[in-house]
Formats: sequence, C-alpha cells, structure tokens
Amino acid sequence: MAGEQRGSMSQGETIAAIATASGAGGIGIVRVSGARAHAMARTLLARAPRARHAHFCAFRDAAGDLLDQGLLIYFPASGSFTGEDVLELQAHGSPVMLHCLLKRMLELGARQARAGEFAERAFLNGRIDLAQAEAIADLIASGSEAAARAAVRSLEGEFSRCIDHLVESVTRLRMWIEAAIDFPEEEINFLATPSLVADLDAARAELDALLAASRRGVRLTKGLHVVILGRPNAGKSSLLNALAASDRAIVTEQPGTTRDLLRETIRLDGIEITLVDTAGLRESSDLIEREGMRRARAELSHADLVVLVTSDEHFVEDLALLADAPATLMRVIVHNKIDLCAGEARREQRDTATHLWLSARSGQGLDLLVSELQHAAGRDPEHAGAFSARSRHVHALEHAVAHLDAAHHALTALHAGELAAEELRQTQTRLGEITGSFSSDDLLGRIFADFCIGK
Ligand code: GDP
Repeated sequence: MAGEQRGSMSQGETIAAIATASGAGGIGIVRVSGARAHAMARTLLARAPRARHAHFCAFRDAAGDLLDQGLLIYFPASGSFTGEDVLELQAHGSPVMLHCLLKRMLELGARQARAGEFAERAFLNGRIDLAQAEAIADLIASGSEAAARAAVRSLEGEFSRCIDHLVESVTRLRMWIEAAIDFPEEEINFLATPSLVADLDAARAELDALLAASRRGVRLTKGLHVVILGRPNAGKSSLLNALAASDRAIVTEQPGTTRDLLRETIRLDGIEITLVDTAGLRESSDLIEREGMRRARAELSHADLVVLVTSDEHFVEDLALLADAPATLMRVIVHNKIDLCAGEARREQRDTATHLWLSARSGQGLDLLVSELQHAAGRDPEHAGAFSARSRHVHALEHAVAHLDAAHHALTALHAGELAAEELRQTQTRLGEITGSFSSDDLLGRIFADFCIGK
C-alpha cells in the first residue's frame, strides 16, 4: 500500500477552512486539521472535548461575544480523515458568520488551508491513496448520478484494489524471474515454465479489463464525445435533430450545405453527448467545404465514438472515411432511411464496428442508437459497477500494457530474463503512479490544486 510506504507524518501547521456553506437555512462547516485542533476545541468549549462526540457549543470571538452556536466535534488523529487531530464546527450557514468563525480559528493559531489540502494531508498520512483523493474531487464535480456513484466506488477503494491486485501479480512474476536469474543453472527451465507465460497472459487480460473500465470511467466523468460523419444528404442533420429533438441543425435537400461544424450537446441519463455534424466528407474543390472536412478529421482525432451515417448503396465507399481514424475510436455505422425500402430496424456487430439499421425521419430504430450511446458512455445496467477514472489513469495503464507486452516479448521471443524483469518493474512503476506509490511532487501539486478549498 502506498500509505504504508509514506508512513504517518505530521505537517506541522494547523490548517482551517470553511468546508461547506450551503444556502440560507442550511449548515456551514469550518474544518480544522493539525496539532492545535485539540487546544482550539478546549478554548471554544471551555473544557476538554470528548473524542467523536457532538458537543453543543456557543462559538465566541476573542472578546467573548457570541458569533453563532452549533455543534463541535473533535476527532483524534487515530481515526480522523486527515490522519491528524481534526475539529469540525457546524454552524448556521450564514457566510458572514462562517467567515468570523474561520477568522477566530486563524487567531487561535491555524492558517487558511489551500485548495485540496485536507485531502492532500489524508494522502500524505496514508489515509487514502491518490486515486481515492482524486475520486473526492470527482465526486464534488460530478454532473450526474451515474458519475457520482462511480466516484463513490473509487473513493471506497474499488479502483485502487484492482490496481493493487495487479501490482501483486506483476510483483510475483518479477520475483519468479529474478529468482531464475539468481540461479543461472536453472534459468532456462525456470523461464520456460508454461505457467509463467500463462500468468503473464492473465495479468495482461486483467490489465486490459481495467483499461477498458477506466476508459468508461473517464467517459462517465468527462462525458462522451460523439462525431457524426457521412456524405451529404445521408441524413446526418436529421439524425442529430432526432436525437436532440430540436431544430438547430439545418435540414436541406441541397448536398454540401452543412459546411461548418455544428455542435449540439444533449444529455442522455445525465451523460453529456456532444454531436458534431460535419461537412460531408468528400473530396471537394470548394475551399470552405475543404476547411469543413479538415476540421471534421481533427474532430475525429479526439472523439470517443463516431457515428457514420450511410446507406447500403454507399456503404463500402463511406467506410473509407474511417480509414485513418484512431484505432481506439468506437465505431457505429448507421444504415439510414430504412423507411424507404420498408426495412426492419436491427443491430449487428461486425468486427470492430456496430451496425444499426434505422430511419432518422420516422424514428424507427432510434432507440437502438440511444442505447448504443448509453452503453458507450458506460451508462447501462451492464456497467453498473463502473468507477470514476481520469485520463491520467488511462495513460498510466496504457504504458503499463506496453511494458507488460515488452516483458512477454523479452521472455518468449528473446529468452532474456533480465530484460523481462526490468519491463515488469516499469509496469509496476506505471501502476504505482495511479495510486501514488510512485509520484513526483509536481504531479501531487497539480492534482490537489484542482480541489476546492476546505476539501
Ligand atoms: P445531411 O446532409 O447528411 O445532414 O442530410 P439531411 O439530414 O439534411 O437529410 C437529407 C435529406 O434526407 C432530407 O431531405 C431528409 O429529410 C432526408 N432524410 C434524412 N433521414 C431520412 C430517413 O430516415 N428517411 C427518409 N426517407 N429521408 C430521410
């Protein structure tokens, strides 16, 4: 565990901040963390606080005048969130009084906490790992119930447990290989053990599943970015309109009039889906249309999913539009206008793409597309156990995959035990970056700066 490596450390200074300030009628909390918390509680209460006990308390300023009254709770370091003595003052939510209460805490020896400093101390004292700390920020920022639930699962440690399990598997493999290197006379036999390769394959499968889940987690946190592509008149704007149930896109019978990128963001079950209707991607001599095409290709490079609108007639040609799209891009091929040939709405999975037959005009089969987008966004019953993740985690996992593959190659093709052990060490390091076992101060600074003050 990262926490065990970091051990417990006191940050010296006592910090204080307003942790919540809800509107009129709500409660506000001033939170204090550090060695002086106990003495400050004693001053406010005029007696020693009981641990984890809600004391009713009159909060007074230095002159003895009443600021507010509310609850005072003292948490000794052994069981507190930050791993230091913590004091929580629950007052009426008046922002003015909360500031006076905070000022009082500063007078009593605390300093104003920086953004995310409570979570940072919890991390530094090994109470939570880095992925859990990030989940707190994600929970606060979550824009949907699904995203909030996912963040709670990460906070609870579900994501971290998966990472720790993988690190354990990789460590075992590395120990095995290093043992083989230490006993060279047996090295060949050791390294040729089929179970070693099987274990490597198992770790790779576990890593793949975690990477897929993390990508879904990122989409849950950040929303899904969808690009609609297709030749002029394929029905892209109609599809966009049907999905958005609005008239923002211009629907016209003249090919090539949707020259600019038109953005529309819709919410499906709280997940943001941005649809980008592009200029018909065809080789064009028209300057404006060429610019539209260029922007459409650029849009594809950072999309999560592309909806290619086509017809059975143009399907093979249209597929070429996706030829240079990134391999990780999810592909949904919509065979539109089935109403013209009295076709049936249906779904087929072919290789890496999902094919849907529907009609943007009649709405027939539109539900298939909606559930496809929900699925891609990680927002369907199958993915009920999703956890929140960040692009940083996905990049670390992608690097871990590359190192694990290199270890596999070193072992099976090159029969180079030392190289394999080194690649496994790199895999471990990359995984450790996620939970914070291996992290630079620079990275920590960036992560905690994104928090709000009081968290
Ligand atoms: P875009 O150029 O790809 O954006 O295509 P539009 O959405 O502007 O549609 C071009 C024409 O096809 C319009 O006349 C639409 O009404 C028509 N259209 C779009 N979808 C369908 C469909 O599912 N069935 C039928 N019959 N016509 C459609």
